Amino acid sequence: MLDADFFRRWLTVAAAAVDREADRLTELDSPIGDADHGSNLQRGFNAVRATLDKDAPDTPGAVLTLAGRQLISTVGGASGPLYGTLLRRTGKALGEAAEVSEADFAQALKAGVDAVAALGGAAPGDKTMLDALVPAVEALGDGDFAAARSAAEHGAEATIPLQARKGRASYLGERSIGHQDPGATSSALLIAALAEAAG
Ligand code: ADP
Ligand code: MG
Ligand code: MG
Repeated sequence: MLDADFFRRWLTVAAAAVDREADRLTELDSPIGDADHGSNLQRGFNAVRATLDKDAPDTPGAVLTLAGRQLISTVGGASGPLYGTLLRRTGKALGEAAEVSEADFAQALKAGVDAVAALGGAAPGDKTMLDALVPAVEALGDGDFAAARSAAEHGAEATIPLQARKGRASYLGERSIGHQDPGATSSALLIAALAEAAG
């Protein structure tokens, strides 16, 4: 079973990963974006970490919805509302239980990823965060975090040959080919943090 502590640990590990990889995320956002993805997420996840340190909600659903709200209000750019929606919708799907099973979480995360697709109008193959998130929830099954992690990492790498069809990178047309998508890369970090928090 997964409790509120597990979800706090997930987001804390994710915040540390974003700190560690911020320069790389911004570098990836430079040829096909506006070179702010690392700093956007750093601002957001630092705010999430500070909020969870100060006021730690005691259910998984409340941890995720609070973190999602925080991302929406602090991350500028496309990724803020999208990641915010991912966490809020996942949290909402978890309801008010004090503990949730791995399988319940897997189902909730799928609802969160579906909400990201609905909000951004993107699908796998469009060279966005969904190229990491969708394979991750598929591989997650009933709670195989390690499988989700490697699916997300492969999905992020597989964005390199794709032409972007959503977001800023799509303005470049064919020139977006040959670069790894920053959002798919940060999504892989987020899923890897889940495996780390579980391990
Ligand atoms: P901005 O592009 O506004 O500067 P960021 O640099 O923080 O925002 O985030 C860019 C990332 O957001 C992209 O690499 C892509 O993965 C993701 N993204 C952009 N638009 C969409 C969309 N419509 N659906 C899903 N993900 C998207
Ligand atoms: Mg950007
Ligand atoms: Mg921007």
